[in-house]
Amino acid sequence: MYEYLIIGGGVTGITLCKKLKEKGIKNVIVLEAQAEAGGLCTTKNINGHQLDIGGGHFFHTKHQEVFDYVFKYIPESEFNFIPRVSKLKLGETTIDYPVESNLWQLPLKQQIEYIISVVRNGEALGAPEPKNYEEWIRWKLGDKICDTYMIPYNSKLWGVEPHDMDVDWLYKIPRVNVEEVLQYCLERKQDVNKFPAHINFYYPKKGGFQRIFDALYADEKENVVLNTPVTKLVRQNDGSWLVNDKYTAKNVINTSPWNDLFEALGRPAALADDFAKIKYNRIVVSLYEKDYDCNWHWRYVPDIDRNYHREFYIHNFAADSKPNGIYVETNVKRYNGEESCVGGKEIYHYETKAAYPIPVIGHASAIKNILAYYKDKNLFGVGRWGQHQYQNADVSMFEAIKFVNNVKA
Ligand SMILES: Cc1cc2nc3c(=O)[nH]c(=O)nc-3n(C[C@H](O)[C@H](O)[C@H](O)COP(=O)(O)OP(=O)(O)OC[C@H]3O[C@@H](n4cnc5c(N)ncnc54)[C@H](O)[C@@H]3O)c2cc1C
Repeated sequence: MYEYLIIGGGVTGITLCKKLKEKGIKNVIVLEAQAEAGGLCTTKNINGHQLDIGGGHFFHTKHQEVFDYVFKYIPESEFNFIPRVSKLKLGETTIDYPVESNLWQLPLKQQIEYIISVVRNGEALGAPEPKNYEEWIRWKLGDKICDTYMIPYNSKLWGVEPHDMDVDWLYKIPRVNVEEVLQYCLERKQDVNKFPAHINFYYPKKGGFQRIFDALYADEKENVVLNTPVTKLVRQNDGSWLVNDKYTAKNVINTSPWNDLFEALGRPAALADDFAKIKYNRIVVSLYEKDYDCNWHWRYVPDIDRNYHREFYIHNFAADSKPNGIYVETNVKRYNGEESCVGGKEIYHYETKAAYPIPVIGHASAIKNILAYYKDKNLFGVGRWGQHQYQNADVSMFEAIKFVNNVKA
Protein backbone atom coordinates (compact mmCIF):
# COMPACT_ATOMS: atom_id res chain seq x y z
CA MET A 1 0.00 0.00 0.00
CA TYR A 2 1.28 3.47 -0.88
CA GLU A 3 1.42 6.13 1.79
CA TYR A 4 0.61 8.81 -0.81
CA LEU A 5 -0.73 8.52 -4.35
CA ILE A 6 -0.56 11.75 -6.36
CA ILE A 7 -2.83 12.36 -9.33
CA GLY A 8 -0.93 14.37 -11.98
CA GLY A 9 2.75 14.73 -12.84
CA GLY A 10 2.91 18.50 -13.36
CA VAL A 11 5.05 20.82 -11.28
CA THR A 12 2.68 20.47 -8.28
CA GLY A 13 2.67 16.66 -8.33
CA ILE A 14 6.44 16.43 -8.72
CA THR A 15 7.05 18.99 -5.95
CA LEU A 16 4.74 17.05 -3.62
CA CYS A 17 6.57 13.83 -4.45
CA LYS A 18 10.02 15.37 -3.87
CA LYS A 19 9.06 17.02 -0.61
CA LEU A 20 7.29 13.93 0.79
CA LYS A 21 10.38 11.86 0.07
CA GLU A 22 12.61 14.52 1.65
CA LYS A 23 10.43 14.23 4.74
CA GLY A 24 11.20 10.51 4.90
CA ILE A 25 7.94 9.30 3.33
CA LYS A 26 9.37 7.12 0.58
CA ASN A 27 6.29 5.16 -0.38
CA VAL A 28 4.89 7.63 -2.90
CA ILE A 29 3.58 7.17 -6.43
CA VAL A 30 2.51 9.68 -9.07
CA LEU A 31 0.02 8.73 -11.79
CA GLU A 32 0.25 10.90 -14.91
CA ALA A 33 -2.35 10.71 -17.67
CA GLN A 34 -0.06 11.76 -20.51
CA ALA A 35 2.92 10.05 -22.14
CA GLU A 36 5.19 12.78 -20.69
CA ALA A 37 5.17 14.50 -17.32
CA GLY A 38 5.27 18.32 -17.11
CA GLY A 39 1.68 19.42 -17.64
CA LEU A 40 1.45 23.13 -18.43
CA CYS A 41 5.20 23.60 -17.84
CA THR A 42 6.12 21.81 -21.06
CA THR A 43 8.22 23.25 -23.89
CA LYS A 44 8.53 21.85 -27.40
CA ASN A 45 11.29 22.88 -29.75
CA ILE A 46 9.56 23.52 -33.06
CA ASN A 47 11.69 24.49 -36.02
CA GLY A 48 14.30 26.07 -33.71
CA HIS A 49 11.78 27.96 -31.56
CA GLN A 50 11.30 27.14 -27.87
CA LEU A 51 7.54 26.96 -27.65
CA ASP A 52 5.99 26.87 -24.18
CA ILE A 53 2.91 24.90 -25.11
CA GLY A 54 0.98 25.86 -21.98
CA GLY A 55 1.19 29.51 -23.10
CA GLY A 56 3.63 32.25 -22.04
CA HIS A 57 5.54 31.12 -18.94
CA PHE A 58 7.99 33.27 -16.94
CA PHE A 59 9.43 32.59 -13.53
CA HIS A 60 9.17 34.92 -10.59
CA THR A 61 7.92 34.60 -7.04
CA LYS A 62 7.36 36.51 -3.86
CA HIS A 63 8.14 33.35 -1.87
CA GLN A 64 11.79 32.94 -0.90
CA GLU A 65 11.17 29.20 -0.24
CA VAL A 66 10.30 28.81 -3.92
CA PHE A 67 13.48 30.57 -5.09
CA ASP A 68 15.50 28.36 -2.71
CA TYR A 69 13.71 25.24 -3.96
CA VAL A 70 14.10 25.98 -7.67
CA PHE A 71 17.69 27.27 -7.47
CA LYS A 72 18.69 24.15 -5.52
CA TYR A 73 17.99 22.05 -8.63
CA ILE A 74 18.79 24.55 -11.37
CA PRO A 75 21.38 27.19 -10.48
CA GLU A 76 20.37 30.81 -10.85
CA SER A 77 23.26 31.19 -13.32
CA GLU A 78 21.32 29.03 -15.79
CA PHE A 79 18.65 31.72 -16.04
CA ASN A 80 18.58 35.09 -17.69
CA PHE A 81 17.12 37.73 -15.37
CA ILE A 82 15.14 39.96 -17.66
CA PRO A 83 13.47 43.37 -17.17
CA ARG A 84 9.93 42.83 -18.36
CA VAL A 85 8.78 44.55 -21.55
CA SER A 86 5.05 43.92 -21.76
CA LYS A 87 2.82 45.95 -24.02
CA LEU A 88 -0.85 46.59 -24.56
CA LYS A 89 -2.50 47.37 -27.88
CA LEU A 90 -5.06 50.10 -27.28
CA GLY A 91 -6.79 51.02 -30.51
CA GLU A 92 -4.05 51.74 -33.03
CA THR A 93 -1.46 52.60 -30.37
CA THR A 94 0.76 50.20 -28.44
CA ILE A 95 1.57 51.39 -24.94
CA ASP A 96 3.46 49.94 -22.00
CA TYR A 97 1.63 47.75 -19.51
CA PRO A 98 -0.05 48.41 -17.08
CA VAL A 99 -2.59 50.67 -18.68
CA GLU A 100 -3.23 52.99 -15.72
CA SER A 101 0.45 53.98 -15.54
CA ASN A 102 0.89 54.58 -19.23
CA LEU A 103 -2.10 56.47 -20.59
CA TRP A 104 0.36 59.33 -21.25
CA GLN A 105 1.70 57.31 -24.20
CA LEU A 106 -1.63 57.70 -26.06
CA PRO A 107 -2.38 60.58 -28.48
CA LEU A 108 -3.44 63.66 -26.47
CA LYS A 109 -7.14 63.56 -27.43
CA GLN A 110 -7.41 59.95 -26.23
CA GLN A 111 -5.52 60.70 -23.04
CA ILE A 112 -8.14 63.28 -22.17
CA GLU A 113 -10.98 60.81 -22.82
CA TYR A 114 -9.34 58.14 -20.69
CA ILE A 115 -8.50 60.52 -17.87
CA ILE A 116 -12.05 61.88 -17.70
CA SER A 117 -13.31 58.31 -17.54
CA VAL A 118 -10.81 57.30 -14.85
CA VAL A 119 -11.63 60.35 -12.74
CA ARG A 120 -15.29 59.38 -12.91
CA ASN A 121 -14.82 55.75 -11.87
CA GLY A 122 -17.22 54.57 -9.19
CA GLU A 123 -14.56 53.82 -6.62
CA ALA A 124 -13.05 57.31 -6.95
CA LEU A 125 -16.52 58.82 -6.51
CA GLY A 126 -17.17 56.67 -3.42
CA ALA A 127 -19.93 54.53 -5.03
CA PRO A 128 -20.61 51.16 -3.33
CA GLU A 129 -18.70 48.13 -4.63
CA PRO A 130 -20.83 46.18 -7.16
CA LYS A 131 -21.15 42.40 -6.97
CA ASN A 132 -21.30 41.72 -10.70
CA TYR A 133 -18.08 41.37 -12.69
CA GLU A 134 -18.80 43.85 -15.48
CA GLU A 135 -20.17 46.53 -13.14
CA TRP A 136 -17.25 45.92 -10.80
CA ILE A 137 -14.70 46.52 -13.55
CA ARG A 138 -16.45 49.73 -14.58
CA TRP A 139 -16.62 50.87 -10.96
CA LYS A 140 -12.90 50.22 -10.56
CA LEU A 141 -11.39 51.48 -13.82
CA GLY A 142 -13.97 53.69 -15.51
CA ASP A 143 -15.91 53.03 -18.72
CA LYS A 144 -13.21 53.84 -21.24
CA ILE A 145 -10.58 51.35 -20.03
CA CYS A 146 -13.35 48.78 -19.66
CA ASP A 147 -14.80 49.18 -23.13
CA THR A 148 -11.50 49.27 -25.01
CA TYR A 149 -9.49 46.81 -22.91
CA MET A 150 -10.79 44.99 -19.84
CA ILE A 151 -14.15 43.75 -21.10
CA PRO A 152 -13.06 42.60 -24.59
CA TYR A 153 -9.74 41.21 -23.34
CA ASN A 154 -11.28 39.18 -20.54
CA SER A 155 -14.14 37.92 -22.72
CA LYS A 156 -11.56 36.69 -25.22
CA LEU A 157 -9.32 35.11 -22.60
CA TRP A 158 -11.94 33.40 -20.43
CA GLY A 159 -14.42 32.49 -23.15
CA VAL A 160 -17.39 33.16 -20.84
CA GLU A 161 -19.80 36.06 -20.61
CA PRO A 162 -18.94 38.71 -17.99
CA HIS A 163 -22.28 38.16 -16.19
CA ASP A 164 -21.31 34.51 -15.52
CA MET A 165 -18.13 35.54 -13.71
CA ASP A 166 -17.61 36.10 -10.01
CA VAL A 167 -15.80 39.11 -8.56
CA ASP A 168 -13.79 37.36 -5.83
CA TRP A 169 -10.65 36.99 -8.00
CA LEU A 170 -10.55 40.69 -8.88
CA TYR A 171 -8.60 41.65 -5.79
CA LYS A 172 -5.60 41.09 -8.09
CA ILE A 173 -6.56 44.23 -9.99
CA PRO A 174 -4.89 47.18 -8.24
CA ARG A 175 -6.70 50.27 -7.11
CA VAL A 176 -6.52 53.01 -9.71
CA ASN A 177 -5.04 56.03 -8.07
CA VAL A 178 -6.47 59.02 -9.90
CA GLU A 179 -3.74 61.36 -8.64
CA GLU A 180 -1.03 59.04 -9.94
CA VAL A 181 -2.72 58.68 -13.34
CA LEU A 182 -2.81 62.46 -13.68
CA GLN A 183 0.77 62.80 -12.48
CA TYR A 184 2.06 60.24 -15.03
CA CYS A 185 0.23 62.06 -17.84
CA LEU A 186 1.57 65.46 -16.82
CA GLU A 187 5.13 64.23 -16.27
CA ARG A 188 4.92 61.89 -19.29
CA LYS A 189 6.58 59.00 -17.47
CA GLN A 190 5.60 56.05 -15.33
CA ASP A 191 6.86 55.06 -11.89
CA VAL A 192 7.91 51.40 -12.09
CA ASN A 193 8.27 51.21 -8.31
CA LYS A 194 4.51 51.48 -8.06
CA PHE A 195 3.86 48.54 -10.41
CA PRO A 196 1.43 45.99 -9.04
CA ALA A 197 3.35 43.01 -10.44
CA HIS A 198 7.05 42.14 -10.63
CA ILE A 199 9.03 44.11 -13.19
CA ASN A 200 11.64 41.41 -13.89
CA PHE A 201 11.44 37.71 -14.49
CA TYR A 202 13.70 34.71 -14.83
CA TYR A 203 13.76 32.60 -17.97
CA PRO A 204 16.06 29.59 -18.53
CA LYS A 205 18.96 30.30 -20.87
CA LYS A 206 18.31 26.96 -22.54
CA GLY A 207 15.42 24.58 -22.94
CA GLY A 208 12.46 26.92 -22.45
CA PHE A 209 10.37 27.05 -19.28
CA GLN A 210 10.38 23.25 -19.13
CA ARG A 211 14.03 23.40 -18.10
CA ILE A 212 12.75 24.21 -14.60
CA PHE A 213 10.40 21.24 -14.58
CA ASP A 214 13.08 18.90 -15.97
CA ALA A 215 15.49 19.85 -13.17
CA LEU A 216 12.86 19.05 -10.53
CA TYR A 217 11.74 15.88 -12.28
CA ALA A 218 15.18 14.33 -12.92
CA ASP A 219 15.30 12.38 -9.63
CA GLU A 220 11.61 11.51 -9.50
CA LYS A 221 11.10 9.57 -12.73
CA GLU A 222 11.04 6.20 -11.01
CA ASN A 223 8.08 7.30 -8.88
CA VAL A 224 5.96 8.39 -11.85
CA VAL A 225 3.74 6.07 -13.89
CA LEU A 226 3.03 7.66 -17.28
CA ASN A 227 0.07 7.03 -19.59
CA THR A 228 -2.10 6.37 -16.56
CA PRO A 229 -5.16 8.61 -16.25
CA VAL A 230 -6.98 8.13 -12.98
CA THR A 231 -10.46 6.94 -13.91
CA LYS A 232 -11.64 5.21 -10.76
CA LEU A 233 -11.26 6.13 -7.08
CA VAL A 234 -12.98 3.91 -4.55
CA ARG A 235 -12.77 4.38 -0.78
CA GLN A 236 -12.43 1.02 0.93
CA ASN A 237 -13.71 -0.14 4.31
CA ASP A 238 -10.35 0.35 5.99
CA GLY A 239 -10.32 4.01 4.84
CA SER A 240 -7.70 3.54 2.11
CA TRP A 241 -8.27 4.34 -1.56
CA LEU A 242 -8.26 1.85 -4.42
CA VAL A 243 -7.27 3.68 -7.58
CA ASN A 244 -7.98 2.31 -11.07
CA ASP A 245 -8.65 -1.12 -9.44
CA LYS A 246 -4.88 -1.45 -9.09
CA TYR A 247 -3.13 0.95 -6.70
CA THR A 248 -3.98 1.11 -2.99
CA ALA A 249 -3.03 4.23 -1.00
CA LYS A 250 -3.65 5.59 2.47
CA ASN A 251 -3.76 9.15 1.13
CA VAL A 252 -4.49 10.58 -2.30
CA ILE A 253 -3.52 14.09 -3.43
CA ASN A 254 -5.28 15.40 -6.50
CA THR A 255 -3.54 17.98 -8.70
CA SER A 256 -5.89 17.54 -11.69
CA PRO A 257 -9.18 19.37 -12.39
CA TRP A 258 -11.82 18.11 -9.94
CA ASN A 259 -14.64 18.21 -12.47
CA ASP A 260 -12.80 15.59 -14.52
CA LEU A 261 -12.82 13.26 -11.48
CA PHE A 262 -16.59 13.40 -10.92
CA GLU A 263 -17.21 10.08 -12.70
CA ALA A 264 -14.08 8.50 -11.19
CA LEU A 265 -15.41 9.32 -7.71
CA GLY A 266 -18.73 7.59 -8.46
CA ARG A 267 -20.72 10.80 -9.15
CA PRO A 268 -21.05 11.94 -5.50
CA ALA A 269 -24.67 13.19 -5.40
CA ALA A 270 -24.20 15.48 -2.39
CA LEU A 271 -21.52 17.42 -4.27
CA ALA A 272 -23.02 17.36 -7.78
CA ASP A 273 -23.85 21.10 -7.76
CA ASP A 274 -20.36 21.95 -6.52
CA PHE A 275 -18.61 19.82 -9.13
CA ALA A 276 -20.73 21.52 -11.80
CA LYS A 277 -19.24 24.91 -10.79
CA ILE A 278 -15.67 23.72 -11.31
CA LYS A 279 -14.86 24.74 -14.86
CA TYR A 280 -11.74 25.44 -16.87
CA ASN A 281 -11.05 26.88 -20.29
CA ARG A 282 -8.62 25.71 -22.95
CA ILE A 283 -6.28 27.76 -25.04
CA VAL A 284 -4.50 27.12 -28.30
CA VAL A 285 -0.87 28.20 -28.67
CA SER A 286 0.00 28.89 -32.32
CA LEU A 287 3.47 29.47 -33.72
CA TYR A 288 4.33 31.80 -36.62
CA GLU A 289 7.54 32.95 -38.23
CA LYS A 290 8.01 36.65 -38.94
CA ASP A 291 10.98 39.01 -38.61
CA TYR A 292 10.66 41.60 -35.86
CA ASP A 293 12.96 44.24 -34.42
CA CYS A 294 11.02 45.24 -31.28
CA ASN A 295 12.23 44.35 -27.77
CA TRP A 296 8.77 43.28 -26.53
CA HIS A 297 8.31 40.05 -24.61
CA TRP A 298 4.58 39.97 -24.99
CA ARG A 299 1.67 42.17 -25.98
CA TYR A 300 -1.96 42.05 -24.85
CA VAL A 301 -4.38 42.41 -27.75
CA PRO A 302 -7.96 43.21 -26.69
CA ASP A 303 -9.26 43.93 -30.24
CA ILE A 304 -12.36 41.83 -30.62
CA ASP A 305 -11.74 41.39 -34.37
CA ARG A 306 -8.55 39.44 -33.63
CA ASN A 307 -9.16 35.96 -32.28
CA TYR A 308 -6.08 35.73 -30.08
CA HIS A 309 -5.56 37.72 -26.88
CA ARG A 310 -1.77 37.72 -26.37
CA GLU A 311 1.30 37.54 -28.61
CA PHE A 312 4.86 36.55 -27.61
CA TYR A 313 8.21 37.42 -29.17
CA ILE A 314 10.14 34.26 -28.32
CA HIS A 315 13.73 35.21 -29.07
CA ASN A 316 13.44 38.28 -26.81
CA PHE A 317 13.28 36.00 -23.73
CA ALA A 318 14.36 32.53 -24.95
CA ALA A 319 17.96 33.18 -25.96
CA ASP A 320 18.36 29.75 -27.58
CA SER A 321 15.48 30.36 -30.01
CA LYS A 322 15.69 31.44 -33.63
CA PRO A 323 15.08 35.21 -33.98
CA ASN A 324 11.80 35.15 -35.92
CA GLY A 325 9.37 33.13 -33.79
CA ILE A 326 6.08 34.61 -32.57
CA TYR A 327 3.35 32.68 -30.86
CA VAL A 328 -0.14 33.70 -29.85
CA GLU A 329 -2.63 32.41 -27.28
CA THR A 330 -6.25 32.02 -28.32
CA ASN A 331 -9.20 30.69 -26.37
CA VAL A 332 -10.16 27.40 -28.03
CA LYS A 333 -13.69 28.74 -28.71
CA ARG A 334 -12.27 31.51 -30.90
CA TYR A 335 -9.51 29.56 -32.60
CA ASN A 336 -9.77 29.01 -36.35
CA GLY A 337 -6.13 28.65 -37.38
CA GLU A 338 -6.08 31.96 -39.25
CA GLU A 339 -4.24 34.96 -37.90
CA SER A 340 -2.75 36.41 -41.04
CA CYS A 341 -2.06 39.66 -39.15
CA VAL A 342 0.62 37.87 -37.11
CA GLY A 343 2.61 36.81 -40.13
CA GLY A 344 2.14 34.17 -42.78
CA LYS A 345 0.87 30.74 -42.03
CA GLU A 346 0.75 29.10 -38.64
CA ILE A 347 3.51 26.48 -38.57
CA TYR A 348 2.39 24.61 -35.45
CA HIS A 349 -0.31 24.73 -32.82
CA TYR A 350 -1.02 22.99 -29.54
CA GLU A 351 -4.29 22.85 -27.63
CA THR A 352 -3.94 22.71 -23.84
CA LYS A 353 -6.32 20.40 -22.08
CA ALA A 354 -6.96 22.70 -19.12
CA ALA A 355 -5.56 26.24 -19.10
CA TYR A 356 -7.31 28.59 -16.62
CA PRO A 357 -9.71 27.74 -13.79
CA ILE A 358 -12.72 29.91 -14.67
CA PRO A 359 -14.06 32.04 -11.81
CA VAL A 360 -17.74 31.33 -12.54
CA ILE A 361 -20.22 32.51 -9.94
CA GLY A 362 -20.03 30.22 -6.91
CA HIS A 363 -16.69 28.62 -7.78
CA ALA A 364 -15.02 29.58 -4.49
CA SER A 365 -17.64 27.99 -2.24
CA ALA A 366 -17.82 24.95 -4.56
CA ILE A 367 -14.11 24.14 -4.24
CA LYS A 368 -14.24 24.85 -0.52
CA ASN A 369 -17.05 22.28 -0.10
CA ILE A 370 -15.29 19.66 -2.21
CA LEU A 371 -11.99 20.04 -0.35
CA ALA A 372 -13.71 19.94 3.07
CA TYR A 373 -15.72 16.84 2.16
CA TYR A 374 -12.75 14.82 0.96
CA LYS A 375 -10.20 16.04 3.49
CA ASP A 376 -11.80 13.85 6.15
CA LYS A 377 -11.43 10.94 3.76
CA ASN A 378 -7.71 11.52 3.15
CA LEU A 379 -8.22 12.83 -0.36
CA PHE A 380 -6.68 16.28 -0.75
CA GLY A 381 -6.35 18.90 -3.48
CA VAL A 382 -3.20 20.94 -4.09
CA GLY A 383 -2.12 23.34 -6.84
CA ARG A 384 -3.81 25.26 -9.67
CA TRP A 385 -6.37 22.49 -10.22
CA GLY A 386 -6.36 20.78 -6.85
CA GLN A 387 -7.28 24.10 -5.19
CA HIS A 388 -8.96 25.43 -8.34
CA GLN A 389 -7.25 28.80 -8.10
CA TYR A 390 -5.53 31.11 -10.53
CA GLN A 391 -2.05 30.02 -9.36
CA ASN A 392 1.16 30.52 -11.27
CA ALA A 393 3.74 27.71 -11.16
CA ASP A 394 5.59 29.36 -8.28
CA VAL A 395 2.41 29.51 -6.20
CA SER A 396 1.60 25.88 -7.05
CA MET A 397 5.10 24.90 -5.89
CA PHE A 398 4.63 27.01 -2.76
CA GLU A 399 1.30 25.31 -2.00
CA ALA A 400 2.86 21.88 -2.49
CA ILE A 401 5.72 22.76 -0.13
CA LYS A 402 3.25 24.15 2.42
CA PHE A 403 1.08 21.02 2.20
CA VAL A 404 4.02 18.72 2.91
CA ASN A 405 5.25 20.95 5.75
CA ASN A 406 1.94 20.20 7.46
CA VAL A 407 2.18 16.42 6.93
CA LYS A 408 3.22 14.41 9.96
CA ALA A 409 6.22 12.26 9.07
C1 LIG B 1 -1.54 30.64 -20.51
C2 LIG B 1 -0.85 30.36 -19.22
C3 LIG B 1 0.18 31.19 -18.83
C4 LIG B 1 0.86 30.94 -17.63
N1 LIG B 1 1.91 31.73 -17.30
C5 LIG B 1 2.64 31.44 -16.20
C6 LIG B 1 3.82 32.19 -15.91
O1 LIG B 1 4.19 33.13 -16.62
N2 LIG B 1 4.54 31.86 -14.81
C7 LIG B 1 4.15 30.83 -14.01
O2 LIG B 1 4.87 30.56 -13.03
N3 LIG B 1 3.03 30.12 -14.25
C8 LIG B 1 2.27 30.39 -15.33
N4 LIG B 1 1.14 29.67 -15.60
C9 LIG B 1 0.63 28.73 -14.58
C10 LIG B 1 1.33 27.38 -14.54
O3 LIG B 1 1.25 26.74 -15.78
C11 LIG B 1 0.64 26.49 -13.49
O4 LIG B 1 0.52 27.16 -12.27
C12 LIG B 1 1.40 25.21 -13.20
O5 LIG B 1 1.84 24.61 -14.36
C13 LIG B 1 0.43 24.28 -12.46
O6 LIG B 1 1.04 23.02 -12.31
P1 LIG B 1 0.15 21.80 -11.89
O7 LIG B 1 1.05 20.64 -11.74
O8 LIG B 1 -0.69 22.17 -10.73
O9 LIG B 1 -0.87 21.60 -13.10
P2 LIG B 1 -0.58 21.02 -14.62
O10 LIG B 1 0.69 21.57 -15.08
O11 LIG B 1 -1.81 21.28 -15.35
O12 LIG B 1 -0.38 19.49 -14.31
C14 LIG B 1 -1.48 18.64 -14.02
C15 LIG B 1 -1.09 17.26 -14.53
O13 LIG B 1 -2.17 16.34 -14.21
C16 LIG B 1 -2.33 15.45 -15.29
N5 LIG B 1 -3.69 14.90 -15.20
C17 LIG B 1 -4.86 15.52 -15.49
N6 LIG B 1 -5.90 14.67 -15.26
C18 LIG B 1 -5.36 13.50 -14.81
C19 LIG B 1 -5.89 12.25 -14.40
N7 LIG B 1 -7.23 12.03 -14.38
N8 LIG B 1 -5.05 11.27 -14.01
C20 LIG B 1 -3.70 11.48 -13.99
N9 LIG B 1 -3.13 12.64 -14.38
C21 LIG B 1 -3.96 13.64 -14.78
C22 LIG B 1 -2.11 16.33 -16.51
O14 LIG B 1 -1.78 15.54 -17.65
C23 LIG B 1 -0.94 17.19 -16.04
O15 LIG B 1 0.30 16.64 -16.36
C24 LIG B 1 0.45 29.88 -16.78
C25 LIG B 1 -0.61 29.05 -17.18
C26 LIG B 1 -1.25 29.28 -18.38
C27 LIG B 1 -2.37 28.38 -18.82
